[in-house]
Amino acid sequence: MKTRVRAKVVGRVQGVGFRPTVYRYATQFGLCGFVCNGPHGVTLEVEGDDNNVGAFFNCLTHEPPRQAVITDIKTEVLGTKGYRNFEVIESEQQGLAVVHISPDLATCDDCLKEILDAKNRRCGHAFTNCTNCGPRFTIIRDVPYDRKRTSMAKFEMCEPCEHEHHNPHDRRFHAQPNACKRCGPVLQLRVEGGSTSDDADLAKTKELLRRGRIVAIKGVGGYHLACDALSAESTARLRSRKQRPHKPLAVMFRDIAAVRELCEVNEAEEAELLSVARPIVLLSRKLTETRLARGISPDTNTVGAFLPYTPLHHLLLQDFQALVMTSGNLTDEPIISDEAELPTLLGPIADAALIHNRSIVHKCDDSVLRVVNGQRQFLRRARGYVPNPIRVAAPGTPHILAVGGELKNTFCLVRDGQAFLSQHIGDLKDYKTYSYFSCEIESWKRLMRIEPQVIAHDLHPGYLSTRFAAIARIPHKVGVQHHHAHIASVMAEHDLHDPVIGVALDGTGYGTDNTIWGGEFMVADRSDFERVAHFKAYRLPGGDKAVEEPWRMAVSVLTSEGLEEAGMRKFSAIKWGLVEKMTKAGFNSPWTSSAGRLFDAVAAILGLCDVTSYEAQAAIRLESIADPHVTDRYPFIVQTWDRPWVLDFGQTIRAILTERRQGVAAGAISAKFHNTIADSIVHTCRFVRGQRDLNIVALSGGVFQNELLLRRTVEGLQSRHFRVFTNTAVPLNDGGLALGQAAIAAERVKRKCV
Ligand code: ZN
Ligand code: ZN
Ligand code: FE
Repeated sequence: MKTRVRAKVVGRVQGVGFRPTVYRYATQFGLCGFVCNGPHGVTLEVEGDDNNVGAFFNCLTHEPPRQAVITDIKTEVLGTKGYRNFEVIESEQQGLAVVHISPDLATCDDCLKEILDAKNRRCGHAFTNCTNCGPRFTIIRDVPYDRKRTSMAKFEMCEPCEHEHHNPHDRRFHAQPNACKRCGPVLQLRVEGGSTSDDADLAKTKELLRRGRIVAIKGVGGYHLACDALSAESTARLRSRKQRPHKPLAVMFRDIAAVRELCEVNEAEEAELLSVARPIVLLSRKLTETRLARGISPDTNTVGAFLPYTPLHHLLLQDFQALVMTSGNLTDEPIISDEAELPTLLGPIADAALIHNRSIVHKCDDSVLRVVNGQRQFLRRARGYVPNPIRVAAPGTPHILAVGGELKNTFCLVRDGQAFLSQHIGDLKDYKTYSYFSCEIESWKRLMRIEPQVIAHDLHPGYLSTRFAAIARIPHKVGVQHHHAHIASVMAEHDLHDPVIGVALDGTGYGTDNTIWGGEFMVADRSDFERVAHFKAYRLPGGDKAVEEPWRMAVSVLTSEGLEEAGMRKFSAIKWGLVEKMTKAGFNSPWTSSAGRLFDAVAAILGLCDVTSYEAQAAIRLESIADPHVTDRYPFIVQTWDRPWVLDFGQTIRAILTERRQGVAAGAISAKFHNTIADSIVHTCRFVRGQRDLNIVALSGGVFQNELLLRRTVEGLQSRHFRVFTNTAVPLNDGGLALGQAAIAAERVKRKCV
């Protein structure tokens, strides 16, 4: 029996070799018809023997192209039409485009073989790609995904490339960024005060790196600053020129064997490193290995490791075991992606720049994650994951824009219940970052065909994202409390709808009482929350100044606990006295229940960090010295005579001072402090469970990036039979905030409270 079936396939089905696969299966089963990219995904018709049509769909759904994600497939049986062959036809471009755009994909093994094969016409070609790999999101100007709507438009394919592009049996069939040495982008090496351009550019670049120079290298989502990671001297020079004394630098290793040689890496971590997203994965250094420059991460024993993800990287790394590859930007500014901005890097920081003439449409940083208890934890979500959607609500919700927080900003667009979280944008207080933020929002709205009816924002009146929301011409505005958004991001990820006990620990977030929160326990659903407990509030002497200078928090905590410890006065008596007075008078010293600041205070009391050079440095140092074998803890009190309850660590601080005086090792004190906080969380959750009959705990907020704290807390809660959830798809720092805001806005729309 002959039949004709039309199918509409929705999901990530463009830019991933979907049509060639359809073609291959159709011809394999002797079917006629067509396939094309449409506004909703892929549309196809197959006609032929109905057993074969069945086999065709079986193959397509069970063995789709490697990078494809089919979210829905709707089929319709129709009368036969008498097609003569199977064709791949041009994209239709009308109506609403709701097709998912693919993230950038790391070079596949087939392409890698070609660039290393002396006999292949792509040998040494830095821009080799195919339908399974290559740039996607970062080169797309509009949808549907076709070469003319990407930054490859200006490169006209040569005859052999054109042939591949049109040959359904070729791996490069409809590979939009297809290119070769003859027709593709070209590299150029720029040295200060002159430029050269020939085939030897790559060789010259390697020579410079070997000689210890710093080279700015154009990548997929922006520039990297590269130097030899095995050279202490080069690394130190890069640090001093970038004015970044301590913050860890990412290291690109030649291959997985090179990683294994220098770092501790388990199976789950290897899978992440080798995944097509090629994120930076935080690993521990091998204790016996000293080749990797110590200066890469002076504060910790970890290394942010990643593997080559473009042909250019593979070719460069042939000659090096590991290169430092840190974002090409100035502190707090967005990553540089355009040659016009190159003078910021070339000269002041880099000795040379390896550029090329394919433009970057969307800046996109490398993603950073680590594996904790076998689960992925994002510290930064960008290249390789963006713009993959996350489900937040039932389809049918109106279009929503959530603008996120202030630091580590990301924004989020919602359509049909799918949330599209943007790449890491950065710190909006920087003007360039703010304009990157507003340009990307416009660009994403166009790409996703989203016209927001609702805008969700933080309650902090001073955040630039809040001000952006205030002036946006969007009819419905939804203010979302910072920590509620953190908890809602966990609920959205794990599809939790019933109320949970939310524990949000972070640095700062604006509270509903106009003070700064950050050690929060709430009973929350997706629409509302009740603050049931919080860390005891202390003064923040000097406001933001106290965030940068943890010693001020030490003064504040000691003063308000009446612990005027003479031994602690290592700072000039004048400065100490001044801050003490500020604290007592409350002058320019807002109240804060921040957990992050309590960690700062303890780190400063132990003499680990008085002034920070990057965010959370004090807490990172405190964690890195903790002795994991120590299991006891200090006393603490949960005051329950008033609501909300207060977690009071006054006794903890007192005990720390005593032990310090007795000469107990700082590593033991740090561990006991971590255990105390974890225990206090478990304790408080048990109180809440007793009163509210809730058994699910959601953990979020940047303080839980502290691995020791997270492990101890999760272990403690699980041993008391709580079900514990935390963020795995988005960062648990403020980079995940927009997802939570979007989820809350979607729920409030559903309940008609907007
Ligand atoms: Zn490939
Ligand atoms: Zn070509
Ligand atoms: Fe936060």
